[in-house]
Amino acid sequence: MNKKIGFIGAGKMAQAMIAGILKSKLISKENIIASAKTECTIEKIKSNYQIRTTHNNREVARFADILILAVKPDQHSKVIQEIKNDVHPECKIITIAAGITLKDIEKEFGFHVKGVRTMPNTPSLVGEGMSAICSNGRLSEEEVLEVERLFQTFGKTERLDEKLMDAVPAISGSSPAYVYMLIEAMADGGVKQGIPRDKAYRLAAQAVLGAAKMVLETASHPGELKDNVCTPGGATIEAVTELEKRQFRGGILAAMESCTDKVKSLH
Ligand code: NAD
Repeated sequence: MNKKIGFIGAGKMAQAMIAGILKSKLISKENIIASAKTECTIEKIKSNYQIRTTHNNREVARFADILILAVKPDQHSKVIQEIKNDVHPECKIITIAAGITLKDIEKEFGFHVKGVRTMPNTPSLVGEGMSAICSNGRLSEEEVLEVERLFQTFGKTERLDEKLMDAVPAISGSSPAYVYMLIEAMADGGVKQGIPRDKAYRLAAQAVLGAAKMVLETASHPGELKDNVCTPGGATIEAVTELEKRQFRGGILAAMESCTDKVKSLH
């Protein structure tokens, strides 16, 4: 892809995306720039990814055909005010920030802006990201496909109506955190029974990866897949019964609702 990509903010999420983009070789190193506040982050990005770096957000804005705003939601407006006059008119502005809307981007840049709202996640670092994407109608279908192609270098994408975007952090943006908690708890359970810690993490993580692949690749209902593991009168149904008693599903639903409420409060 013969495009220049700029990242404003080079924290955890931006670095996961940069790693994925570089691995795919869709964009060369010379065509990616990232700005960071601290010298320590600049040095880390230089040594890990050998892309261009700068302290100057305006330099990123001038360079980019596709500009990714990768700062926290509370920094968004400040950054846009700083760079808005440096962005060239055809530049696609992509936000990855939770709770930042297409309207917010239009309000700050003007209604002509080619705005894209996305919600990626950190497994992008290993090429298994999941990003939801919506755009503001100023982009042609070809331009939206270009953005999707970029995001597909580090995982899968789904287009969604903007009204559903606030719900995405809970299901895929933040949810790796709860899956890590599940893996950690499963590993603890293994360790309790005497399985060495390193083996316990590998057993638990591969079981989660395999279960996710079963859902995606067999297209079977998760309930059917669960039933297939539960031998009547066997050990798995004992575990399932305990999880139901302790409101495993209810806990997850409540956690997701809290997450979505927090995202909505960022508007
Ligand atoms: P982070 O704190 O790791 O990164 C943010 C970076 O922006 C920091 O390095 C900070 O120094 C830099 N920064 C702050 N103000 C700046 C400024 N004025 N100019 C340039 N750089 C500045 O946070 P993160 O987890 O990478 O999150 C970044 C964005 O990504 C957030 O808006 C978040 O909602 C979104 N996001 C994060 C995740 C995730 O799992 N971490 C998932 C999806 C979306």
